Amino acid sequence: MAGHEHPKEHDLPSIDILTWSEVTHWATHGNPSPPFRIEKTEAQWRELLTDKQFRITRLKGTERAHSSELCQLFEPGRYECLCCGTELFDAANKYQSNTGWPSFTQPVSPGVVAYHPDASHGMHRIEVTCNVCDAHLGHVFPDGPEPSGLRFCINAVSLHRSPVRERGRLS
Ligand SMILES: [Zn+2]
Repeated sequence: MAGHEHPKEHDLPSIDILTWSEVTHWATHGNPSPPFRIEKTEAQWRELLTDKQFRITRLKGTERAHSSELCQLFEPGRYECLCCGTELFDAANKYQSNTGWPSFTQPVSPGVVAYHPDASHGMHRIEVTCNVCDAHLGHVFPDGPEPSGLRFCINAVSLHRSPVRERGRLS
């Protein structure tokens, strides 16, 4: 009687193909639940981060275009949130956008990033943040390549790249 009808609801499945309508729905109606939360005060983040890292991740700054070698790096790897270490993106979903910022077609799972309407700078965009620690990552646009058609335009400063794990994922 108390059994769950949807036992997999609380898992974090990998995304098949994320769509722009899902992204806009989350941005306007609320985001998927994060796997866990990490919260720190502004002073604590300032202690942990450089000025540049703090400005971009906690004050929603944007790094200069073409300022990171990560734009041109397509080796296998995982991209974690600089602030909290949560895995956000996989190199398998990274592509050459020629925009000057690392670009991905989707995150590693639906709950790790959050979406917010952003009307700053006279534009209507959707901001992307880490769903675990609220770090500003960048924006997502509906002009990416197949199959998702999405372009996650992410500040390299907001990411920490780590090599692929040797241990295989459970399947
Ligand atoms: Zn984070």
